[in-house]
Amino acid sequence: MRIAVFGGTFNPPHLGHTNLAKAVVSRGLVDKILFIPAYMPPHKLDWDMVGFDDRLNMLKLAAGALMQAEVSDIESRRPDEPSYTVVTLELLQQLNPEDELVLLIGEDSLQQLHTWSRAVELAEKWEIMTYPRPPLSVSLEDLRRDWPEELADKLYSSKVELPLYEVSSTEIRHALKHGLDVGGMLDEEVMKYIEEKSLYQWK
Ligand code: ATP
Repeated sequence: MRIAVFGGTFNPPHLGHTNLAKAVVSRGLVDKILFIPAYMPPHKLDWDMVGFDDRLNMLKLAAGALMQAEVSDIESRRPDEPSYTVVTLELLQQLNPEDELVLLIGEDSLQQLHTWSRAVELAEKWEIMTYPRPPLSVSLEDLRRDWPEELADKLYSSKVELPLYEVSSTEIRHALKHGLDVGGMLDEEVMKYIEEKSLYQWK
């Protein structure tokens, strides 16, 4: 099976994430999506991060509405170290040696990818599928500045066109904190979960 590994903080997961996952599968780019909430994201230790279990539960609710999607808690199994993607992929590949893993990232992440832990190894061993996050655009020249030529070409050729639903978790956290409407941004089950547990109510 060809599986897209889709990581993030998912704080909270929203329709931008799930619509993207749907499109990747429905276009036949992969057979399945594996959502991986970060346990301890090295770049993003935000003060307004809700706990891992709540993010995992919300993601399960959001993914439950999708065909061909699963959620993995694999990053919580290394609680004492940062959630480096390369380590997660190594572990997943060991657990699923027959599967072809593809890392799914936005173009914003592609721009920074060369700074990730063991970036060259990551790009050599796995396909990294990138979808657009306008207004940002990463050119082949940009990639050749940061990567050996062969890897720059490989990364550039794995860009795919996917429809974007303009919403972010930051926008949702802000709206929830200020009592604003988030209808149309979140799965209904996720919204119910947030209400029941009074998440994102910081003052
Ligand atoms: P935050 O606003 O807290 O930074 P986010 O909405 O960008 O969060 P993340 O959990 O950081 O969400 O995202 C996980 C992955 O989903 C990242 O690769 C990110 O680029 C991508 N992503 C986020 N929002 C969207 C969207 N609206 N459409 C498609 N992909 C998205």
